[in-house]
Amino acid sequence: MTLKIPIIHSCDIKCPKCNHTYLYEFKIEDLERDNYESEYEFLTYLICKNPLCNYDIKIKGKVIDNSSDSINSLKITSIK
Ligand SMILES: [Zn+2]
Repeated sequence: MTLKIPIIHSCDIKCPKCNHTYLYEFKIEDLERDNYESEYEFLTYLICKNPLCNYDIKIKGKVIDNSSDSINSLKITSIK
């Protein structure tokens, strides 16, 4: 593995419960290697920033390790 852990990523996430979108910063510490050598899956949880909601948002995604490039691309595949 050439990826540096943890990965700090920030992006807009829309809460599936209250539908509010906020900017979140999250830390990815555990990665699981996918079928493809350069792809890793992660699972992380966020608490909705809406004080009336506080829903536990489950984020699933992929990190693609571009060894030729120092920038890794991160893709969110599911928000529940
Ligand atoms: Zn919410």
